[in-house]
Amino acid sequence: MASPVVDSDIAFIGGGFRTTTFLSSAPALLRHRVRVYERGPGVGPGGFARYGITTTSIGSRFFKHLDLSGPFAPLAHSPALTDVAHAEQPVAMHRLADALTTLGRTLQSALGTEGTRLDSTVVAVHADSDRHRVDVQLADGSTESARHAVLATGRTERAHPELASWRTKVLLSGSVIATARRSEIKGRLLAAHGRPVVVAGSSHSAMSALQILLDLRTELRAEHPGAPLPTVHVVRRGPARLMHDSADRAHRNQVPGRERPFDPARDVCPATGIVYRDSGLRHRSRALYCALWAGELPGATLVDAAVLADASDRFEEAAIVVQALGYRGQAPDLYVDGVLVRPGDSPDRLLADDDGALLVSGTAHPLLSVLRVEPTPLDRRDNTAYASDLYQRLAGRLDRLTAPVAEVSA
Ligand SMILES: Cc1cc2nc3c(=O)[nH]c(=O)nc-3n(C[C@H](O)[C@H](O)[C@H](O)COP(=O)(O)OP(=O)(O)OC[C@H]3O[C@@H](n4cnc5c(N)ncnc54)[C@H](O)[C@@H]3O)c2cc1C
Repeated sequence: MASPVVDSDIAFIGGGFRTTTFLSSAPALLRHRVRVYERGPGVGPGGFARYGITTTSIGSRFFKHLDLSGPFAPLAHSPALTDVAHAEQPVAMHRLADALTTLGRTLQSALGTEGTRLDSTVVAVHADSDRHRVDVQLADGSTESARHAVLATGRTERAHPELASWRTKVLLSGSVIATARRSEIKGRLLAAHGRPVVVAGSSHSAMSALQILLDLRTELRAEHPGAPLPTVHVVRRGPARLMHDSADRAHRNQVPGRERPFDPARDVCPATGIVYRDSGLRHRSRALYCALWAGELPGATLVDAAVLADASDRFEEAAIVVQALGYRGQAPDLYVDGVLVRPGDSPDRLLADDDGALLVSGTAHPLLSVLRVEPTPLDRRDNTAYASDLYQRLAGRLDRLTAPVAEVSA
């Protein structure tokens, strides 16, 4: 089989955190013709550039696969990168964004002008099995081709159907924690004239939004003494998935060798006795949740509702509803052999094999891969080994798939 004549060997759709850390974990892949399509102005930070919060993960976790060899070797002396890569605590997100920008710039110069398409939004990806090529269709009407495409387009929040009745006052959690929206959100809190704010959800994104709302409330209290300020009600849809029922259950439900061992000193909240699962809240979010649960957080209360409709009175009276009900993978329209297999607005998850191959109707597709676009599935959240070897396996598969024909048969 002769190699098809194409513009690149591997097209990465999206040049954010995943693409940047993946390619810097596998510098050998850069001997292929790699091209990154990024709708923003640069490769590197992706969504992390937008938020004025602290990361959930410790800094070093973001760069655990880094291979500072080849074009990345000079970065061993970059304080912006190494400070975060060695941090054993969560870091301010702007520091993570700076580190990724530094890494992204180095990647961009290694890829050269042919290897990056910035300010380029991909609207559709067409895989053609007979011609062994993928066509990448851009918003400007042009189309470029590749031998393989990797979807690394990240996640987004979609309007939640259970909040449809209050749509006009719903803000997505991502907009509450966005640095660029801070003064607007502050203005809306003041304009609420004391009517409450309801946060729907109680996970990391909810706690991040809650923290920002409370910070803004404190600022407003100092700036406008006497002005009525909203209380924040956090609506929790049950304790599931964030915690075990008891320490005994935590011991019994452990998956040996795959799950971080339960440690009563670390995993039980001293204030409330909540027993956290490995996938549970961590660091600041966890401390905030403990205080909220114990009723020790001035200006905020926790409301239980098995389904959101059970808290409809709260939503009704609220001046603002913050949707913090999770993220979904996003991707352009995906076509396989002329058939639209997943429209961009599809509610279906982008499923992939353990080596990143896109699953189309349950079968791994040879021309398309997915780089951790979806959040960790709920049934794998307690498994710290989930996707831990994805980078290595995906790199090996891409290397084989895009090797020159002579090299494959050698
Ligand atoms: C507030 C917040 C906090 C988080 N904190 C953590 C944390 O502490 N630890 C953790 O592990 N994870 C965290 N996450 C999850 C986080 O989203 C992922 O870990 C990480 O950002 C995913 O990287 P990514 O490359 O998939 O997405 P991104 O970094 O967002 O990159 C996707 C890129 O694709 C580009 N793109 C999208 N669509 C197109 C298109 N059609 N054409 C061209 N380009 C496109 C975007 O512009 C973007 O640059 C957090 C998420 C949020 C929202």
